[in-house]
This record gives sequence, structure tokens and C-alpha cells, in this order.
Amino acid sequence: MKHLISLSALALLAACQTVQAPADPAETVSETVTVTMPEDTAVPVPPVMPTPPATQQWLYGSAEARIALVQDWNEIAAYIEAKAATPPNASVVLAPGATADAPDFLACGDKPLAAVFDADETLIWNLGVTAYFDRTGQSFDPKIWDNWEKTGAGTAVAMPGVENAFQRIRNAGVEIIVNTNRDNSNHAGTADTLKAAGLGEFAYQQTLFLKGDAPGGSGKDGRRYLISDNYCIIALAGDQLGDIADIFNDRALSPPERKALSAAPAFDQMWGNGWFILPNPVYGPSIAGTLDEVFPADSYWEPSIQDE
Ligand SMILES: [Mg+2]
Repeated sequence: MKHLISLSALALLAACQTVQAPADPAETVSETVTVTMPEDTAVPVPPVMPTPPATQQWLYGSAEARIALVQDWNEIAAYIEAKAATPPNASVVLAPGATADAPDFLACGDKPLAAVFDADETLIWNLGVTAYFDRTGQSFDPKIWDNWEKTGAGTAVAMPGVENAFQRIRNAGVEIIVNTNRDNSNHAGTADTLKAAGLGEFAYQQTLFLKGDAPGGSGKDGRRYLISDNYCIIALAGDQLGDIADIFNDRALSPPERKALSAAPAFDQMWGNGWFILPNPVYGPSIAGTLDEVFPADSYWEPSIQDE
């Protein structure tokens, strides 16, 4: 019996039974030949790996995302360098009870300057665990994620632009502090992960704060206040609004209301001016909204041509 099989597929099968197919096996077929094989030879079919969701393709795989992040981190570094040259009187941490109508920021005194960053999808991309979920076809599992926080060092990578920005920020004499919602029982694994990604040493409850280190659960204001006891925070950056202020985390807010709150004049003037948000279309509270919430009624349109 004759079989049609590609040279590249034959080479793969001969080389290793456990080889994994690429996302699109068709990409490897460069030439087709006719070969004779025994009737009883079962040709194993390598598993076809799933294609990552479009959001992951964009964030983790595209040139466009890399460029956007390099631009963002260059902007963050330049802002911090300028602020370090002329330290402000007020930090960029919203004071307790402050609102869009009555904004207030913590005073700095003569405290040393710090920049406070979220970790996941702000400083590091969690490639190892994300690819694991994709390969195994499962959705987010908190038990697996907890294990990732403990053991993921080495397969979480520094996001584009971060290492260069960190060098500039440190050269400007500004302390880099991480405020993450990873669990504080996993502080050692998180510090290992940041270090393995090339981002430097972080000391627990000095330059690394995690969920559980202050009241408020996954709200980060308590930790921002704690850090502000010792530092003047001149920049906050993250991939979610909660990395900036808990006031944006009100679950009663619809996506349009949350968007409008971010655009209130007192807050709007902070974006790029001490507050920085990085793109993350993969997960988080930004991934929400009905058709009506995402597309305003006045954007309704229908084609003027007839279906054939
Ligand atoms: Mg994050």
C-alpha cells in the first residue's frame, strides 16, 4: 500500500516519538513524496497543539505588543527621571477617602522616592503557566496558579522594556517596589521569579509587598499606605486600575461607569503623569461588557447594500 507522507513529517517521526507538532502542522510540509510502507504499519499522528486565544497571540506573541510596551516603559522611565530631578511635595497615592470630586494625595515630606509596580503582566509575562493551561485545555485554576507562584521562576519573563527602564529608574536613585496580589505565603517564589527574570533582588516587606501584607485583601490601597510610611511614591504602574487606586475596583460600576470614573478630570490628568496602565487584553477586570456597553447606541450602523 502506498502512502503519501511529507519528508518533514517522516523526519519528525523517525527522530522522536514524543515530538510535538507546531500550532499549524501544515507550515512544516515543504515537499511531498510517495513511499511504500508495510500494510500493518500504524503511522502515529502527532497531537495538534491548540492555537492560543487571539488575546494571548497579541500580548505574548506580537511585535506590536512588544513595541507598545517598550514605548510605555520608556515613558515611565522618562517620567520618573524627571520627577527624581525635582522631587514633588505630594505623592501619587490617593489619600484615604479621596474621590474624583474631592481628590487628595498623600504628602511626601522628605521621604526617599519610590516607584511602585504591580508584577503580573506589568513586569513579567507568566508564559509557563499560561502555556500549560493552553496545552492542557483547561481554564484558570487557582491551585495550579498557587503552585506557579511557588515554582515558576525561570519561565516567567521580563516584559519588553522593563529591564532597561529599571536600570534608568535605579540610576535616578528611585527605589523600585513591587506591590502584587500574589499571596504573601509565596513571597519567596515571587522574589525568585522576579530575580530569574533579570529584574533584581526584592526583599519581602521592604521592596516586595503581597496580598495579606496589609488589610484589604486584594485591594492594594492598604499596602500603598504602608509603603508610603517610608517612601514618597512618585509613580504607580500596572495592568489593572486596582494597581493605581482601589476606588476603581467598585464592583457596582458597569464598564462604561468605570471608564467614565477613570476619565473624571481629577483622575484623567494623572494618566501618564504618575499613573500608568499597561496593555493586558488577556485577563482582568477590563475584560467585561455587553454589546450595548461596549458599543454606544449612537454607533449603531447597518450596511446600505442588500444581501445577495
Ligand atoms: Mg497584573
